[in-house]
Amino acid sequence: MESWKTVESSTNWGRAIVALGALYVVLGLGWAYVEISQGTPLSNAVIISSFVAGPGMVVLYGGYRLPETEINPKFYSRIIGWCLGGIGVLAGLLALYHLQPAASISNPGRAILIISAFVLVPSFAGGLNDARAKSNAFVLERTVDLLHKSERIADVGGWEIDPETMEVYWTQHIFEILERPWDEEPPVDEALEVYHEDDRPIIKNAIEAALEEGEPFDVELRFHTPEREVRWLRIQGVPETVGDDVVSLRGAVQDITESKEHEQELQRVRERMEFALNATDAVVWDWNVETNEAFFYPSAESLYGTTVENWEDFIDIIHPEDKERAQQNIEQSLETGEPKHEEIRVVRDGEIRWIEAPGHPVEADDGSKRMVGVARDITDRKTYERRLEESNERLEQFAYAASHDLQEPLRMISSYLQLIESRADDELTEETEEFLEFAIDGADRMRDMIDGLLAYSRVETQGEPFEPVDLDEVVADVRDNLDVRITESDAEVEVDELPRVLGDENQLHQVFQNILSNAIEYSGDEPPQVLISAERNSSMWEVSVQDEGIGIEPDEQDQIFEVFQRLHSQNDYEGSGIGLALCERIVERHGGEIWINSEPGVGSTFTFTLPPEDAHSE
Ligand code: ADP
Repeated sequence: MESWKTVESSTNWGRAIVALGALYVVLGLGWAYVEISQGTPLSNAVIISSFVAGPGMVVLYGGYRLPETEINPKFYSRIIGWCLGGIGVLAGLLALYHLQPAASISNPGRAILIISAFVLVPSFAGGLNDARAKSNAFVLERTVDLLHKSERIADVGGWEIDPETMEVYWTQHIFEILERPWDEEPPVDEALEVYHEDDRPIIKNAIEAALEEGEPFDVELRFHTPEREVRWLRIQGVPETVGDDVVSLRGAVQDITESKEHEQELQRVRERMEFALNATDAVVWDWNVETNEAFFYPSAESLYGTTVENWEDFIDIIHPEDKERAQQNIEQSLETGEPKHEEIRVVRDGEIRWIEAPGHPVEADDGSKRMVGVARDITDRKTYERRLEESNERLEQFAYAASHDLQEPLRMISSYLQLIESRADDELTEETEEFLEFAIDGADRMRDMIDGLLAYSRVETQGEPFEPVDLDEVVADVRDNLDVRITESDAEVEVDELPRVLGDENQLHQVFQNILSNAIEYSGDEPPQVLISAERNSSMWEVSVQDEGIGIEPDEQDQIFEVFQRLHSQNDYEGSGIGLALCERIVERHGGEIWINSEPGVGSTFTFTLPPEDAHSE
């Protein structure tokens, strides 16, 4: 609205100039008409009227052509001001002259008209000049203002060095970047002082080379703010040459502290990543699903012995038996957005190598998908694991064979001892009978231990495949088995609702049987109080068996899961010492863990985790 008004009034001032010119033309012509009608010869009338109409024509024409000039319409009013001012001054002078008694003018109206017409053109020219100067000043002011604002928006300052005088000119934004007062424009030497002392040679040499050899430059260096804060600048310089001479050196300055800090942070991240990669012999990979381009850092060759540029290259080197699994893994991960963890075999230089290559799907802002991950050679670990497995298998076979083969002679010892006891009952002295009882008892314990060892060695090898198991049913069975002991000890066994899990029913039976019978066994003087409960914890079920028995000292809690480790003598509590070791082995076969929380005199809680029935089978 404001600007519209300005344009409108500017146009009006333009019209006023034209009107003023037209007025003089009309007055000139009118005057000629009057003169002719009074009998003045035509030539005289034309000459006199042209004194008035002529300047009028000039102003009229000039006013009409004004919009074609570079004069800004907002300054048209100044032109009319000058014209009217000129006319006014002359009219005033003429009036003063007329008022003198000795010099009165016979026809003041005519005199004013002619003389004001004479002054009209110079006044118009003066007005034009003034308006032009104002327009130029206005354009300059606006350009400077625009430059300053643009500098701020782009955060770039400009500078110039005069090679003759070596004077420096800075635009306003450089002062703002350097945080220096606006009026302090230092000479070159002093200007260099604002830079970090280690970096001064960089800019000094660059300026020298630019001035002497006409070399443009683009450098990055640090400077100190007045508060001694160190910031980063990018300075570009471009010399202007005439022939071989550099006539001026101009350039731009930008505060790049933030991007420099990002760059440095990026560098640190890169160094850390490189260290991690070197320390673990790993390679980072990045596969663009859209473009099918694969990128490896530091390189794919170190790991695969060949370049891998896309998914097909990768599939090519995978062992035939693992290709499908690798394909499925990546598809599933891309579909679900879940990370993939995989161990695959690749064929490198004709040799099979195991590679661990976990990856994570990443979606960019534009919706494009990538998989990013690491990969490393785990052949040594795999070889070691395989050897360990073989060795474990051999040990299991040995334990199984030993315990199995020991059963037979032991059974013989027990049977013959019992035979002796029954046949020679009358002939035995009380002492011999007692010795015989010890021997039978020892043989029985040994049989229990061998049975336990046999069960322990069979956990992995003789286990049933996993299937859904209802723990409520398992615990109900175990309670039935232990019914006599529960009744005799007056035990109270409370069972919360238990879940269905994925496992080996027979082995889970052994776990509950051992833990529940321990809870009854180690209950102390009071009747046993037992609570069996379960709760879901992330991907596993957590089953707890809590008693209020004698408890276990903290430093003994780790030992109880070891084979044949007992905390009490046979006289205090009977047992083989293998029950909890067996429980741990079974739980581990199910991919779970077992632990104890216990306080002596207060009670113990055995907790173990089991996979839910919908978990993936082993
Ligand atoms: P054992 O045949 O001796 O019971 P286990 O392996 O089942 O063998 O248990 C190892 C030892 O752990 C036991 O000898 C006992 O000292 C301790 N223990 C097991 N369960 C409990 C419990 N509920 N309260 C206190 N101590 C226990």
